[in-house]
Amino acid sequence: MTKKSVFAPRSAWTPLRITRDGREFLRVSTDELSTYDPATGELVATIDTSSLADVDMAVSRAREAVTRSPWRNDGALRARVLFRWAERMRTNAEDLAELLTREQGKTLAQARSEVQSSISMIEFNAGQARAIYGRAIALKDGVHGVVLREPMGVVAAITPWNYPLNLTIRAVAPGLAAGNAVIVKPASATPAIVIRALEFLAADGDLPSGILSVVVGSGATVGDHLVGHAGVDMIAFTGDSATGINVMKRAAGGLKKVSLELGGKSPNIVFADANLDKALAGAENAIFSAAGQICTAGSRLLVEDSIHDEFVNRLAARATAMRVGDGLDPQTQMGPLISAAHKRTVWGYIEIAKADGILIAGGEDLVKAPYDRGHFVAPTIVTGLPSSSCLLTEEVFGPVLAVQSFSSEEEAVTLANGTEFGLACGLWTSNLDRAWRMGRAIEAGTIWINTYHHFYGETEVGGFKRSGVGRQQGIEGLLEFTETKHLNFDSNTNLW
Ligand code: NAD
Repeated sequence: MTKKSVFAPRSAWTPLRITRDGREFLRVSTDELSTYDPATGELVATIDTSSLADVDMAVSRAREAVTRSPWRNDGALRARVLFRWAERMRTNAEDLAELLTREQGKTLAQARSEVQSSISMIEFNAGQARAIYGRAIALKDGVHGVVLREPMGVVAAITPWNYPLNLTIRAVAPGLAAGNAVIVKPASATPAIVIRALEFLAADGDLPSGILSVVVGSGATVGDHLVGHAGVDMIAFTGDSATGINVMKRAAGGLKKVSLELGGKSPNIVFADANLDKALAGAENAIFSAAGQICTAGSRLLVEDSIHDEFVNRLAARATAMRVGDGLDPQTQMGPLISAAHKRTVWGYIEIAKADGILIAGGEDLVKAPYDRGHFVAPTIVTGLPSSSCLLTEEVFGPVLAVQSFSSEEEAVTLANGTEFGLACGLWTSNLDRAWRMGRAIEAGTIWINTYHHFYGETEVGGFKRSGVGRQQGIEGLLEFTETKHLNFDSNTNLW
């Protein structure tokens, strides 16, 4: 089977050289780190990295800024700064999308969508910055309680490479809207796009110095130092579940608040009464979007047995016809994996799929031209797996779909809940009562009904079980970045 992708000619790219010069918010001073286009191997950017002393400096500047500047008490100021950031991002959206594709590999259409949803996330939180209300209550004669939401203080936002812009902004925007100082540590595969986007925030003359900092470097050194730092009050972490557990343990030493957005193995459940054309498009998007490198990937397809063969054959035909290639090529539907190392991991799962089940699409290692300079695999679908197969329980984080069938709602719920994860779920049915029943029975933070992968700044995301702790986005996501304080006023003459 030959993939039809052709690499369209590319425009010339001058690699970025990112240093601290002119970027006061970037706390870097030491060895360089380079990033490479996952489709071509081309150098994208070289960035100076942070020493542990740079991290210490970022924390002390953040503490000072959050204590001494008007930021924590002035919601209108925060709203203005955030709205202007959104505006600058909008003006530069096309450049940001191109850099995102070059550094991360996703298609330009997906990159544009990530930029736009990031802007929308900033705007939602900018609006909320002026509306962080508390409550007041008359408690007894002459006694009143006022309950306020205050910023946590200094927040470390540690973010992954798969949606680097969106997942960084998902922490930075509410963190700042709530009045905190935020120190960002981007993933080492995608720091340039994060720094570029944050430059549009740092450019604001009204953003107090020290309220935003970026540190760059490995998780094991720079990330770990940030998590363990006594001057950091909260860790907003998005990444792998195993890393998240270690971050939580490390943060426990200082009893720091953690918000953890972790991995998934999300079920996508198709009933025979669904709009099957829409469900097919949804199933394809759920697993092959961003080459499956998305925490909410619908990586387990559960299909009602009466339509199983027809539905799965149609999906396999779509997967086989997908154009895999360079994200900058407008014809491309699925880009590469992030790195050679990640491709080896995904390939290991494809080998297991071949051994454990029946491949009905993909399974090829795309290594010949035009794929020879990047990290490509074909969209892959496997059926007939034994229930013991790790393909049904472990996160692959690549374009590998495991299919199962079911014959009743009860069986679908049992299969859907049968992993350690609980991040998201898709339900495809025209039966409203069933959608309610299933939606309540499935253990996941997001249940998409007759849709998949739609995210809104207004609505919360997060995981049950091994998929996370706390929520991001929406009002709850903003309030994660606050402490609750009760001011108790007593005007009576006697204490008791
Ligand atoms: P990762 O856990 O390897 O890294 C995430 C971030 O943590 C990076 O910035 C990394 O440098 C840092 N880090 C690593 N070790 C650290 C340590 N000991 N202390 C502090 N920081 C450390 O994850 P990844 O490979 O970048 O991203 C892929 C994973 O992220 C997948 O498991 C995916 O499901 C998950 N993810 C979850 C969500 C969500 O919202 N739930 C979203 C996107 C990705």
